[in-house]
Amino acid sequence: MISGNLRKIQKLTNPISIDMPEGTYAAYKKDFQSGRITVGNVCSADCFFCSQKWNPAGVIKDLKRFLTMEEVKHFTNLYLGRVTLIGGAFHTNSGEFFLHPDAAEILELLAAKNKLPSNTQIFTNGMDLTLEHIKVIKKLKLNLCLSLNTASITAREKIMGSGYGKHKNAVDSIYALDKYDVNYRVWIVPLRKSINNGDLASTIRYLKKSKVKLISLHSPGYTKYTPSVIAKELAITDKELFDFILLMKQKYNVNVDFDRYSLAAKFKNIFQMLYNLSKNGKHLNKKSKLFLCSETAKDILPLVLMKKGFHNYKIKVVKSKVFGGNIDCAGLLLVKDYISAVKEFLRIKQNGKPDVIILPSVSFDINGEDLSMTPVREIEDRCKIKLILA
Ligand code: SF4
Repeated sequence: MISGNLRKIQKLTNPISIDMPEGTYAAYKKDFQSGRITVGNVCSADCFFCSQKWNPAGVIKDLKRFLTMEEVKHFTNLYLGRVTLIGGAFHTNSGEFFLHPDAAEILELLAAKNKLPSNTQIFTNGMDLTLEHIKVIKKLKLNLCLSLNTASITAREKIMGSGYGKHKNAVDSIYALDKYDVNYRVWIVPLRKSINNGDLASTIRYLKKSKVKLISLHSPGYTKYTPSVIAKELAITDKELFDFILLMKQKYNVNVDFDRYSLAAKFKNIFQMLYNLSKNGKHLNKKSKLFLCSETAKDILPLVLMKKGFHNYKIKVVKSKVFGGNIDCAGLLLVKDYISAVKEFLRIKQNGKPDVIILPSVSFDINGEDLSMTPVREIEDRCKIKLILA
């Protein structure tokens, strides 16, 4: 017997029947529409910092199995324009792409349909990479992002769970990537412990011998649901990372960088947003405006607004109340967070009621929905103020 939800999906999406809840189906549909390919959230690793362990249930959809080849074809044919990234997604929890039994076939399929641009980045933990995969990656001129974390197999077992053989495969895959001249970068989550005990520095030194194009230190987000002992391991400040990177560059002359919202990228995004806004809405200066921005943008937005000659505005920083933790970028803010920020703002009498609210469009997908698939218009409906997405 099939549930009403499943029946609805089958009706909408025949010829094949997709056996997954309606919300999960909608999440895959959205991710394929935005070019992000994930084939299910089965993973060979069990990283202690994996955000998927601690995310509030239901906000990001879980499939708990791989998509079948038939389902991959279904989402590809119906919704995929061009691939932008493989192995990561917005609306669905992602697993390890190369653990999928048909990973190589999926890449060939996407290429055959002309949906896979060369240089597309594939994220992997390297534990299930085979020579066949590497040859296909090379043939299709794709880029690999190897989530290595450490070059020490014993340290890797502690950080990422799973067994010795899998980690040996991940570390050894560096030789194969070099041999086949694959374009790859290495991703490392900097941990308090691995900085203090020298493991991070020795991993970077180890990579100096390889042909890796870039070593990216990536501090993952953690939420208020993440146990404090884990959050403490991850809570490394931008300043600490900058200093560490500088030291590594001086010592080993390696191309190492950090992957978390660079200042230049922030400026560029906010300038672009205001440029679009001033182009499309000259009438805006007469209106009183409330700019809603993320914690990440809060130091930059006032400078850019001033430089661009905006006036008659106020700024309200929107905190991530749903996720909490160190989540401070606009991409992870939800409609609920925006509504509570506007309510807080309006509670202060002297603020007055603005004519328009301007908020970052990056929080919403092409259908105007946030990560939890709540439509942005709910903010307008609840706050009764005109919204502009910038
Ligand atoms: S490899 Fe990625 S998805 Fe898998 S457990 Fe680690 S962080 Fe999570």
